[in-house]
Amino acid sequence: MVSRTIPVDPFDLVIFGGTGDLARRKILPGLFRRFLAGQMPEDARVIGCARGDLTDTAYRKMIKEAIEEFTPKTIRKAKDVSAFVNHLHYVKVDALGTSGWKDLKAHMRDGVIRAFYFSVGPSLFGALAERLHSYKIADSDSRIVVEKPFGRDLASAKELNATLAEHFDETQIYRIDHYLGKETVQNLMAIRFGNVLFEPLWKAQYVDHIQITVAETVGIEGRGAYYDKSGAMRDMVQNHLMQLLCLTAMEPPSRFDPDAVRDEKLKVIRALEPLDPDDYVRGQFKGGDGKSSYAEDVEDPASITESFIAMKVKVSNWRWNGTPFYLRTGKRLKARMSEIVVRFKEPPHSIFEADAGNHSNALTIRLQPNEGIDLSVTIKEPGPGGMRLVEVPLDMTFADALGPEAGEIPDAYERLVMDVIRGDQTLFMRGDEVEAAWAWTDPIIEGWRGREEKPKLYDSYSSGPEDALMLLHRDGRRWREIEA
Ligand code: NAD
Repeated sequence: MVSRTIPVDPFDLVIFGGTGDLARRKILPGLFRRFLAGQMPEDARVIGCARGDLTDTAYRKMIKEAIEEFTPKTIRKAKDVSAFVNHLHYVKVDALGTSGWKDLKAHMRDGVIRAFYFSVGPSLFGALAERLHSYKIADSDSRIVVEKPFGRDLASAKELNATLAEHFDETQIYRIDHYLGKETVQNLMAIRFGNVLFEPLWKAQYVDHIQITVAETVGIEGRGAYYDKSGAMRDMVQNHLMQLLCLTAMEPPSRFDPDAVRDEKLKVIRALEPLDPDDYVRGQFKGGDGKSSYAEDVEDPASITESFIAMKVKVSNWRWNGTPFYLRTGKRLKARMSEIVVRFKEPPHSIFEADAGNHSNALTIRLQPNEGIDLSVTIKEPGPGGMRLVEVPLDMTFADALGPEAGEIPDAYERLVMDVIRGDQTLFMRGDEVEAAWAWTDPIIEGWRGREEKPKLYDSYSSGPEDALMLLHRDGRRWREIEA
């Protein structure tokens, strides 16, 4: 299903890096789906920019092929793809030089929204911002979209923020974290703040602990050079897991509006206690079964970069005092699975026999696969033979609850690009949030770099290092199985 929405205002969307992987795999297929939904105005235009020599015709052909590759057959008809690519244009621009900029300026129309997507490496962000300004291509209403990684530490994030701030106001800057564009992540807010059932229980008094897992089966094939300088903490925790943690832990914002939501998220990051050295486990995957090990995939076989991390994080405020957040993410794990589990406490007193079996409730927000939410509740096991309790899920897999068509969840990019055009920054990271997240992660990374801490080795396609299981066992808890 392609969800229907009212069209946005006419726009010129310029994609720097318009021939790159991200543009072909995510941004343009996402826009195509919005086109199918009738959300793209007749006179909207997308201008791809890159260094290569391409005509409009060649660019349209390239993107048509990308849509055929990255969009399900069931939703694309040849005539729709052709109609969509007619919205595309191409301008050859060198981000670091002078060529192409006047040409790009000549392509821009007055009276429409101008958005500039920086789908290029971060080293080009400053040059692009400066040229958009000096060639007077961007104005005070224009928006820029920047991709991760947003810095590699606090100093570089600050520098990047300062560079962008020279030419653009914070209200014009859209820092993408595509996890925030996921339908279930937004549903987390709908569940919390749209029902009276959950929010009164959403606190240390009733919540035993929270688990956030982002497990991947892929390794770092072909990305070794980039990944080895980054590791799981920089690549996943500082941005995606931290954002999920913030949305789970934050206080109710007064309105669902960009600054109200981001203010609350920022308060959570600022309330994080420094990570205790006993409260994390770093890992690196081993090879086997014809698959290379981490050490073989990177240049330095003695690399101490982690491809896995599990940690116990404490949010130091009234709401969460005593309720830990267990975070874990890694590559080459058993299954591709992302979820947030809110594990409630057991009832304070059981009226049933000791062997009836007591259970606690758990609310699971599944980001992938099978986006959906389930709530486990305790009921009586059917049949005679006394009162025995069982835990059953109230499953709200979207495809089941809302009909099979709802199983086609819109891609995060689809939603986020349209938010940029609408001028809605709610699901984008603000500069101070990004800096606060780095301020928390920097000393942790520096600590283990300083101590030359070696990660624990773990089997490929396992649940990560044994010690990560211990992190919960020692607290009398256990991780949910990593399973698809
Ligand atoms: P890519 O290497 O596939 O594409 C880069 C694009 O930038 C190409 O179109 C290239 O022509 C253009 N380019 C490079 N130098 C240029 C210059 N001097 N002037 C003009 N254009 C130039 O990269 P990608 O995978 O598409 O990633 C783009 C950005 O998005 C990066 O910052 C990356 O970290 C980020 N990102 C990518 C993904 C992904 O899935 N690919 C996911 C998250 C974030």
